[in-house]
Amino acid sequence: MENTDGISNQVSNNTAYARNGKIMLCSGIILFTIVVFIVCFHSYARWIFKHRQRRRHLLSLSVTPTAAGAADKALDPSILGTLPTFVYSSKTQDSVLQCAVCLSEFQEGEKGRLLPKCSHTFHVCCLDIWFHAHSNCPLCRAPVQSDKVPETIAETVVPVIEEADPESEQANLQQLGMIALRLASGNATDTALYIKRMLNDTSGLDPSTEQALTDCAQHYVDANQQLDDSVAALLANAQHDVNAWVGAAIADAESCEDGFKESGSQDFLLTARNAIFKQLCNNALAINKLLTAN
Ligand SMILES: [Zn+2]
Ligand SMILES: [Zn+2]
Repeated sequence: MENTDGISNQVSNNTAYARNGKIMLCSGIILFTIVVFIVCFHSYARWIFKHRQRRRHLLSLSVTPTAAGAADKALDPSILGTLPTFVYSSKTQDSVLQCAVCLSEFQEGEKGRLLPKCSHTFHVCCLDIWFHAHSNCPLCRAPVQSDKVPETIAETVVPVIEEADPESEQANLQQLGMIALRLASGNATDTALYIKRMLNDTSGLDPSTEQALTDCAQHYVDANQQLDDSVAALLANAQHDVNAWVGAAIADAESCEDGFKESGSQDFLLTARNAIFKQLCNNALAINKLLTAN
């Protein structure tokens, strides 16, 4: 009798144990499902929030009124071509870089563009879209190119004469030629410095671009020397020598441009600067030609 009681007790214990086990298992599954649901919902909410923030940011970039109306104009493509680009690499970059247009961090191998005036960096694609409708930095609003570079004799030489003291109102052709040569020489110095700054400040430059830039820096140093020689020739009334020296300086700018083509570099960073320098040299040549005719 005691034996059968013991067996039935054990059977009911086993049944209770199995039932408790099932309850535990069900609770476990329910709890797990809830946790998974919460995690998914949290990630989704975060994604929505980030997406909205990004959209709002892009929207604000496209509608924010700027003080200067000129900044709302699209950037001249020839200027865009002169802005240095780089390939992001965490090995060469100490800190994390963020693109202020799309708010994402630069990933390994992504192509960026540097604005030389304010040193802000952006993805090439993000910045180029921005420049379809603006000509300033999306972050600090600094104009990409505030110093308007004069391009013609009228724009370069005449204002210099007008600002000079009254005696030089009678500036003869030789003085005019001197001014034109000094402007070209000043421009060459400026470009040589610009290149050196770019080489120092931009990390991750494409090796072929870096080589082309290094060569150009030397070309502009040479051009500067040749323009100094042309000033001496002009003072000595040796118009033929002026022609030769200025011609050599123009050839330097052309070698710089060719260097980019030959190196296979994708970025013609100095095209606009080379063109302006050649124009300034041609101004001097035009005045020298008048001197030769007189
Ligand atoms: Zn971006
Ligand atoms: Zn900026």
